[in-house]
Amino acid sequence: MSSRADNPISVYVHIPYCVTKCPYCDFNSYAISTQSGQQEMPEAEYIDALLSEITFRANEEEWQDRSISTIFFGGGTPSLFKPSSIARILDFLQSKFGFMPEIETTLEANPGTIQEQLGLDSLKGFRTAGVNRISMGVQSFRTQKLKFLGRLHSAEDAERAVQNVRAAGFENFNLDLIFGVADETVEEWFHDLSKAIDLNPLHISAYGLTIESGTEFGRRAKKGTLPLAEESLQAELQLLTAECLQKATYKRYEISNFAKANAQCRHNLAYWQGVDYLGLGAGAHSYLAASTSAPNQEVGHRWSNIPKPEHYIERASKQGDASQRKESIDLSQSELEFFFTRLRMSSGISTKEYLELFNRSFETTYFDAIKKLKLEGLIENDQALLRLTSQGFIFADYVLAEFAKASSL
Ligand code: SF4
Repeated sequence: MSSRADNPISVYVHIPYCVTKCPYCDFNSYAISTQSGQQEMPEAEYIDALLSEITFRANEEEWQDRSISTIFFGGGTPSLFKPSSIARILDFLQSKFGFMPEIETTLEANPGTIQEQLGLDSLKGFRTAGVNRISMGVQSFRTQKLKFLGRLHSAEDAERAVQNVRAAGFENFNLDLIFGVADETVEEWFHDLSKAIDLNPLHISAYGLTIESGTEFGRRAKKGTLPLAEESLQAELQLLTAECLQKATYKRYEISNFAKANAQCRHNLAYWQGVDYLGLGAGAHSYLAASTSAPNQEVGHRWSNIPKPEHYIERASKQGDASQRKESIDLSQSELEFFFTRLRMSSGISTKEYLELFNRSFETTYFDAIKKLKLEGLIENDQALLRLTSQGFIFADYVLAEFAKASSL
């Protein structure tokens, strides 16, 4: 029987600062530009708080002696931090936990910061610090669309940033794109996709624009002053995305994620496959599977840290533990989450794995929903697995809702 110490973990480090707040963003991120144009960010204090939290977690029995297989610096805009700060965090994580030999270490970067504040030397600094994958929030190569999205960079900045990423020695990088901005045409989205493909990253993530309440776009949509894309356009653009990227040898492995051979984001895969992950920093989430001696039915638990950076700094610096909401996950919730996460992946749900984990057949549990969704052409299945069709990826929310309705849990 394997013990926890035999199973590597993933680590997420949240850096919550951004130059300005994008109008569509509902992440836990905070603008650092003041009215006088100054930028203020307590980088040193935040790093100290992170090191304190790392020490606290490394001393907990659950995380002790566990090596790290993937690290993801997300945000916010982690590329606002100095390479020496990122190096400090990585060195400390390595000294406390140890790294697997083939560790994947991703840093999210913003083309605006790469041009203005960072440049090639800083990217080289991140590489030397141990980062081996960059995920760049390009979103578009059209100036008008970038302005609408409130992004600070231009199309040219994005292209130059990619050149710098390459010149700094990063072979493995991702470009994030957004589609479905109001009145965007099929030709305009095709242009964005083609530009991204021409830059030849190993990975492309393409997300449909969603309007979240609590964002500036959410407020404008409520007032009726935000132009919104028709659902049919969103669907058309999503279909085009899959066609173009697959033609250019990017294989879809999740609804919004496409990768060249062997270049899937291992950190995301770890999340989706239920690996234990430790979230560090303001608002970060963690998950830990229960030990075999856990009380009946508990499969694992999840918690999140205090979201506000200043509160996080205060708590983590003093106590190490900055967690707040804790949630116990029982077998039925775990089953539903497993089902939904796996369905979003191209590999689908394995009949055998489901049976082994939950001791029942999903084909029996969801018999009627499967029959209906198959007739609608949204899912396909055989004896080994069940997965979404290309139409099913477009209407994934509807498919998931149908399964949720059918769930007897
Ligand atoms: S740069 Fe990213 S994290 Fe920051 S506000 Fe914009 S979308 Fe949100």
